[in-house]
Amino acid sequence: MNKQNFTTSLKCFVCQKEYPPEHIYVCPTCGLQGILDVQYDYDRIKATLTSDIIASRQFNQWRFREFLPVSFTAPLPNLHVGWTPVYNVERLAQAVGVRQLYLKDDGRNPTNSFKDRASAVGVMKAVEFGFDTVAAASTGNAASSLAGLAASMGLRSYIFVPQRAPQPKVTQLLIFGATVLRVKGSYENAFDMCWEACENFGWYNRSSGTNPYLVEGKKTGGHEIAEQFTGAGALNGGKLPDWLVVSIGDGCTIGGIGKGLQEMKLAGLIPESPRLLGVQAEGAKPILEAYYSGNDLVPSETNTIADSIAVGTPRNWRRAIQQVKLSNGEMVAVSDDEILDAMRKTARLGGVFGEPAGVTGVAGIKKAVEKGIIKSNETVLTVITGNGLKDIQTAMTAAGKEIEIEPDLRSLENVISKQLQTDV
Ligand SMILES: *Cc1c(COP(=O)(O)O)cnc(C)c1O
Repeated sequence: MNKQNFTTSLKCFVCQKEYPPEHIYVCPTCGLQGILDVQYDYDRIKATLTSDIIASRQFNQWRFREFLPVSFTAPLPNLHVGWTPVYNVERLAQAVGVRQLYLKDDGRNPTNSFKDRASAVGVMKAVEFGFDTVAAASTGNAASSLAGLAASMGLRSYIFVPQRAPQPKVTQLLIFGATVLRVKGSYENAFDMCWEACENFGWYNRSSGTNPYLVEGKKTGGHEIAEQFTGAGALNGGKLPDWLVVSIGDGCTIGGIGKGLQEMKLAGLIPESPRLLGVQAEGAKPILEAYYSGNDLVPSETNTIADSIAVGTPRNWRRAIQQVKLSNGEMVAVSDDEILDAMRKTARLGGVFGEPAGVTGVAGIKKAVEKGIIKSNETVLTVITGNGLKDIQTAMTAAGKEIEIEPDLRSLENVISKQLQTDV
């Protein structure tokens, strides 16, 4: 088969064995532990990809498609994924204690999270491998983005959710036409059901972490950051930020963005990658524990309001730690209260409404400054990975309550004068 891209193999993170870049999920020898990493012919990419070629392309997820495992000639999903805006937020920078802070708002993707970058590659691989149906086990952004991207490509989707999946999230799946199966059991039951169903019925499995091609889509976050800070009309005077801060659940997001930046360095498009700060929630930090212990990951219980990063058995922890170390980075954990505070501050001082996992990076910056990891004269970028309307329940806790008044001006004046008093 002429795959028409620059991939060379799939390499196991555990045993280092390499396999042809075809339809395979995990290492046949190591099983679910053996996450595969897509390898490329970077010399050929470097010889092919010039800044003129890049400049001739549209501003979206496919701008650096030489670094993606998709065919150059395959039809692309028609939704706009990627090339999300970066904002310079001075008042928020002051509040968290750094010289300059940038937010990259990935809540602006078609289904409102960073996961769209992965799902867009996922549905293309499904089509390339001849599938007409895709499946995932998730309640969260991975599922809604798969349902949305599948709808845009005319693929059927089956989503397995655990018993306690909240109705608003299920609704975002149903509206895209996904068949949603509420499995009477835990998330692990739903995950296992999804694997078995894919085997039995011949569906393509998007389940988080284990499909080697999906994380490749997440690299585009790194490619874009590189160009947004060094290309035409660059931010920050053409200089990359000192730190790039990303929240961590499964580890694919930070692992993907990190790999994307390393590739831009390999291709000679940036001099150096920013240092990565990985941020976990206090109530779900098995990757941070493994990072500090140097041992294999020990699965943990999870207890945090940041549901998108409440992952007790992360699959891509090796990739996350590898990228943090490669960039000479660090990791911190933040509490739910710190996340709620970051939700308010990001909205009120930066104008961006992020979901709890989406603003966990902002909380992490404040923590890292307090710990002396990030210096107050440094420049920082964090990715807002999901939009705040995804989880209105938690947003209500952070936002506070409205004020009820009688329909007359006197009643309003009363409120305003009280507010003025409490303000000073
Ligand atoms: C999935 C997700 C993350 C974390 O990504 P991982 O690959 O699980 O580490 C962060 N924020 C949001 C909004 C997400 O949906």
